[in-house]
Amino acid sequence: MKYSSFQTPERRLLGAGPTNLYPEVSQALTRPEVGHLDPKFVEMMDEVKSMLRYLFQTKNEFTIAISAPGSAGMEASFVNLVEPGDKVIVCVNGLFGGRMVENVERIGGEAVVVDDEWGTPVSLDKLEESLKNNPDTKVVAFVHAETSTGVRSDAKEIAEISKKYECLVIADTVTSFTGIPILTDEWGLDAVYSGSQKCLSCVPGLSPLTFSDKAIEKIKNRNSKIQSWFLDQTLVLDYWSGQGKRSYHHTAPINSIFALHEALRLACDETLEKLWSRHLNAHHRLKKGLDELNFNFVVDKEYRLPQMNSIYIPDGYDDLEVRSRLLNDFNLEIGAGLGKFSGKIWRIGLMGYNARSESVDYCLDSLKSVLNK
Ligand SMILES: *Cc1c(COP(=O)(O)O)cnc(C)c1O
Repeated sequence: MKYSSFQTPERRLLGAGPTNLYPEVSQALTRPEVGHLDPKFVEMMDEVKSMLRYLFQTKNEFTIAISAPGSAGMEASFVNLVEPGDKVIVCVNGLFGGRMVENVERIGGEAVVVDDEWGTPVSLDKLEESLKNNPDTKVVAFVHAETSTGVRSDAKEIAEISKKYECLVIADTVTSFTGIPILTDEWGLDAVYSGSQKCLSCVPGLSPLTFSDKAIEKIKNRNSKIQSWFLDQTLVLDYWSGQGKRSYHHTAPINSIFALHEALRLACDETLEKLWSRHLNAHHRLKKGLDELNFNFVVDKEYRLPQMNSIYIPDGYDDLEVRSRLLNDFNLEIGAGLGKFSGKIWRIGLMGYNARSESVDYCLDSLKSVLNK
């Protein structure tokens, strides 16, 4: 049997990630290979670190990209900062909070869940009550932008309350990174991880991650060995330290990092303020169009993520049929509902490259056509 090269359909990706790549990022992928310890590559890695610091708004020395997707950034945060027996408060208001609980339990930590309805933000009162009832808590974890529901929680307040009780704070910013403000140092977040394929519009498979000095201190003072070899960050501190002591840990996904460098460069060039307002403007344009089509948003206005718009599927339409027609007739991918929201909602992502009027208008026109409105 002879196989032919795969022909990629040209989709417009307005789901929960990946998004379409910036053209410059696509080009960066095809650069000629270099060795991952080549001095030129190492120099580029230093720029990756410093650009990530700007985009995370942090001075943290330990700011890197894990060679694996956002889920690995999550796992790296938990396996490094949580030891067996540690009590961790996990705020759960959607699918990804649930995964954090899984992480804590697999480590042998004790997860105390602060549960909130899907579609609502983390309740600050419930968090504070839980901290009062569990004074031996070591870590508080939450999802800043819950992609499964389209909700933004108040990261600044969550961190402020957690600090009062001397807890380390783990924040999932996979969908928020470069889409809405994340002020790592100002808010006092200790472990912040993200993904490359959401608002950065880079290829999937890399997870930006930053640890505060307090987090590093905790890692250095652990009593038990980190149970994951690959994600044990003590093994790569030297690799990333910039002191010239680079040695082999794993082979970096070189071409993906070319792409990451380019996506970060574009983001830094545009500036955070402009990125945030571009995402917000795209959201407003989409909202106006969806209002005209009588769609209802799942999330209250105050907590809506501009980059992830959850809407109820109107009565009389079949979820799968509509999404299939959007894909087959318009090459348009939108996100399905997950978990409790499966079959009930659609999620329209306007991330990175797609946070622009042309993508919004294409989405609205395609929806109008498929729904016969
Ligand atoms: C996408 C996502 C993840 C997982 O990222 P992957 O790159 O798919 O592993 C984690 N948390 C949130 C909030 C996400 O949206």
